[in-house]
Parts: sequence; C-alpha cells; structure tokens
Amino acid sequence: MMLSLIMMVLSTPVNASERAIAILEKTAIGREIMAEARQQKLSIIEGKISKTEIVATRVLRGKEERLDFNVQVIISRDKSPVFQAIDLAHELVHALHPKSNPFDPKLNAVDYIRAGIESEGGEAQAILQECKVGRELVAMVEEDQAQLIKARCQYVWKTEKDQNQWKLSFYHLGKYFSLFHAKLNSVKGDQAKNNQIAKIVQPKDPMFTSAAANKPYPLALLDEYVEITQKICSKTQQRKIASAGTAEKAATLSMNERCQSLSSALFSAP
Ligand SMILES: [Zn+2]
Repeated sequence: MMLSLIMMVLSTPVNASERAIAILEKTAIGREIMAEARQQKLSIIEGKISKTEIVATRVLRGKEERLDFNVQVIISRDKSPVFQAIDLAHELVHALHPKSNPFDPKLNAVDYIRAGIESEGGEAQAILQECKVGRELVAMVEEDQAQLIKARCQYVWKTEKDQNQWKLSFYHLGKYFSLFHAKLNSVKGDQAKNNQIAKIVQPKDPMFTSAAANKPYPLALLDEYVEITQKICSKTQQRKIASAGTAEKAATLSMNERCQSLSSALFSAP
C-alpha cells in the first residue's frame, strides 16, 4: 500500500488487467472481492509494479472538514496472468478496506506501522488473501505455475495458523535492523510506543518485503509516515494562520506537535 497526498491524473482505461481479473474470478474468494470492487467502481490498471495508491485529500471550508480518498489499484504488467491475479487478490485487500485519516494530529509513527501491517486492510491480511486465492488456483493452473504458487505461499500456509507468529514474521528486518532503530529513535513521538515496537522487530532475514519500497514493511511504513507528515507540515507552515478559516486554523495548530516530532536530520526534507 502506498499512501500519497498528491492528486494524480487518471487517464488509463479500467479494463487493462482483464486477463488477471478473469483468472481471479475463477476462485470463490476472487468472485466475492471482484464483485465488491465492481460495486465500488474501483479502477484497476497495469503498471510497473503491483501496488495500491491511495490519495487522501482534505477539504477545509470554514468550520467544515471533509476527507476524500481516491484509490487506484495497479498490477504489474510484467507478471504472468496467474501471478497478476494473485497480486490483485492482495491489492484488493488494501483497496476495499476503510482508510485511516493521515491528517489526524494524533497519528504517530508506531501506530502507523502496526496498523499498516496488522489492521484490517493491512499487509498481513493482504498476504493471507493472496495465498488463499493461490491455494484455489493451484488446482486450476499448469503444473509449472502451481509449483511457483507453492513456492510463494509455502511459508504463509505453514505460519498462518499461529496468528501471533504470523504477525511477528512481518517485523524481521535483516540488514535494515539498525537503520530502523536509528530512524525510529529520531522520531520524537510516543516514547512508550517506540519502546514497544523496538522489542518486536528482529534482525532475522525478512520474510516479506514491500515491492513498492523494496525494503521490509516496518521500515517502508516508517518512511511513508515521515513522508506524509512532512508533506502535511510543509503545507500547514506555508499557510498564513491569521487569514485561515476556523477549521484550517485549528488543524494547523493541532498538527504542531506531530510536525515537531520530526525535527531530526535523519530524514531529508520533502
Ligand atoms: Zn500490500
């Protein structure tokens, strides 16, 4: 999942991944989730890598505040249709679940990371769903494709029964272990929460890596939290508080603490 705050132009037609959709709909789970995607008129296109882009826009007018989400599912054009279908099963978990508010002044880095992995619509659920669909597809596809699905999902099928171990396996950081700690320590957020996640992450080799960020999920999510916070903060600082409406003034003032938590030099300015 990639959360971004910049508006983008949607120009590609919705039917770009029809082969993948047709394969996904051969499975019972796939039919259910595609029905929901169609109902929500979700846009699914092909692109470089598979990801879900969620653009959150906050509209402030006087005392009113409204949040709009624009969701775009992208499926890697370089994969075989069977693996595109499996990717789609993953991305639809992100795309079809309710989104949290990135503008919430109380949103902190650790909650953001843990929600991104463990919440409804998070990575743990997305990977479970892709391998549930994978299990159904194994019986339907050619032997070589079936072997590839088994290789991808073996660990998941084995581990999912133990929910605790399953979630913990997302916190393996490998060579990124010390970088994660250094970055986390530079975010002056909720210290108790920082300590809590510092105990969960492990230096073992990562089991799961974000394809979009090319690093393990906890680090990818920490970087994402910093990026969106910096974007919100640079925008709120640019505004003239004196001339702003009531809702905008309140939003700017309440963001101060979250903005100040990122005064460290470990992260470059947006
Ligand atoms: Zn994902």
